[in-house]
Amino acid sequence: MTNHPYVPFHRPSIGEEEIQEVVATLRSGWLTTGPRTHQFEADFQAYSGARHALAVNSCTAALHIALAGLGIGPGDEVITTPLTFCATVNTIIHVGATPVLADVGPDGNIDPHSIETRITSRTRAIIPVHYGGLPCDMDAIYRLAEQHNLRVVEDAAHAAGTHYRDAHLGAEHASRSDAVAFSFYATKNLTTAEGGMVTTNDPALHEVMRRLALHGISKDAWNRYAANGKWHYTVQEPGFKYNLSDLQSAVGIHQLRKLESFTAARARLAALYTELLGDIEEVSPSPDTLCGRNAWHLYVLRLHLNELSIDRDAFIEELRLRGIGVSVHFIPIPLHPFFQPWTNGSHHHHCPVAMSLYHRIISLPLFPQLTVEEVHHVVNSIKSVVAAHRRHSVHGVLLERAARAAS
Ligand SMILES: *Cc1c(COP(=O)(O)O)cnc(C)c1O
Repeated sequence: MTNHPYVPFHRPSIGEEEIQEVVATLRSGWLTTGPRTHQFEADFQAYSGARHALAVNSCTAALHIALAGLGIGPGDEVITTPLTFCATVNTIIHVGATPVLADVGPDGNIDPHSIETRITSRTRAIIPVHYGGLPCDMDAIYRLAEQHNLRVVEDAAHAAGTHYRDAHLGAEHASRSDAVAFSFYATKNLTTAEGGMVTTNDPALHEVMRRLALHGISKDAWNRYAANGKWHYTVQEPGFKYNLSDLQSAVGIHQLRKLESFTAARARLAALYTELLGDIEEVSPSPDTLCGRNAWHLYVLRLHLNELSIDRDAFIEELRLRGIGVSVHFIPIPLHPFFQPWTNGSHHHHCPVAMSLYHRIISLPLFPQLTVEEVHHVVNSIKSVVAAHRRHSVHGVLLERAARAAS
């Protein structure tokens, strides 16, 4: 259908700096958590403005130790969004608590009005997810948290670089959250291949999470070594094995230095998508915010299905045939078989907005090295799919007739 080269959903931005730092780490003799991880933590702490930053090996680990560190467990309910990756809900189950789903608004972020209807005497915490890097309505969430004495743990997997109002997520002078969990998975805005960071402004929670991230040991190996070569340590509880290695932090240190320019590139490309998609009545652009800064992890196209003769899955197949790699974020939690015992038939998990959004959304390619030409190609491909499948259009009807006749 096209001679244009394939546009992938994602291409990582790894430079010579990251490669050299990894090589230097390999030659340094210190591979696991050590000086580079401590530097990465200090750099991320300064970048985010949070009081403490703890590097871990995934955002999933960050969420787990935040919930565990806050003492959330059996008998407790934790409210989160259905439009998220399964890890958000899995970690609630890992600590023995019960996940409760609140619906999202049209922007894909958890709806504070829906959260309010889910609060019971057992509710202990809220986990908002900044969907695609778009900041949630944190003031409304904090108001509920204060009224009902709830903890707030942000799933900021998409949101390294996201600002709520004038401050980065988790910043000490602005944030009232207990902890903020970031992901450095391969496709995220800042990557260490696998990795994560949890920030907090509570020194006691920081210490507990640090211990939980390394077997429940009071101090990590590097501290012992760096202090005076001591061999002694004490286990205070059965912790987990969640520390980040210096090999990964070597990548993260340089990715973090580029994060502002990555975010600016994403924002420019997103603005171009929004401008070009404005010509197409059958779709809506990815929403932006006036309440801070979108990190633009995702550009989520919305289809107007009543104006199209094909569904979202067929639309994706048409884009694939035109050489465009896309994805869907996310399959809502209630649609996964495992979560059905929690969600089936319970009005407490009734999330009509998330469910209808799911059938209309497509995540388009968006990454710093995507070219302007590629954005044009993606949008032209969307135009050609829409033109061929516009409901009631003469062209669309003729094409459908031809397709039926041929089959
Ligand atoms: C990627 C992602 C996670 C998990 O991040 P990992 O670092 O892979 O553990 C959690 N929540 C959301 C919303 C994500 O997109």
